Amino acid sequence: MSSGGNGAGLPERLASHIRDVPDYPKPGILFKDITPLLADPAGFATAVDALANEFAGEQVDKVVGIEARGFILAAPVALRLGAGFVPVRKAGKLPSATYEVSYALEYGEETLQVHQDAFTPGERVLIVDDVLATGGTVAATLDLVRRCGATVLGAVVLMELEFLHGRDRLPEVDLRALLIA
Ligand code: AMP
Repeated sequence: MSSGGNGAGLPERLASHIRDVPDYPKPGILFKDITPLLADPAGFATAVDALANEFAGEQVDKVVGIEARGFILAAPVALRLGAGFVPVRKAGKLPSATYEVSYALEYGEETLQVHQDAFTPGERVLIVDDVLATGGTVAATLDLVRRCGATVLGAVVLMELEFLHGRDRLPEVDLRALLIA
């Protein structure tokens, strides 16, 4: 990976714009707040380019973003890769027929849905999210994409919380993280 003009490598440059918020949304959770990164034009562009570059040589038909922070990153990544964008949303938000899956979060419970006709069977799909914690969200999204008959090419996240071992739940996924915390 190349270094920026300020001498810091990509992970350091991204990390410098991500704020740790202790005890949010619950006591004991150290929340990784990406809003300072999004608010910085150079930082946001660097993040989107780096996420897209992980799978730039591959044929990607659709990029999936997970509500809500995943949308912000996945949509520009889809444009960069010349792919379509598909939202995976929390229960009750998508208007047409959906598949759904429920799972446990690092700090609660979640149900995610996708439109049943979001993918053409056989399409090659990239999953994008901000943070990989326990891996439940990416695992649930993988399940939804597969139920639609599409193929998951891989997943890319800005940050992996390594101590939660989310990667262990996704042994068959080509999972990339721009930085590890
Ligand atoms: P998980 O399913 O446990 O991998 O959780 C990942 C999802 O929850 C992602 O969509 C993140 O946005 C969010 N998330 C979980 N833990 C954190 C955290 N410590 N900081 C920021 N976001 C988190």
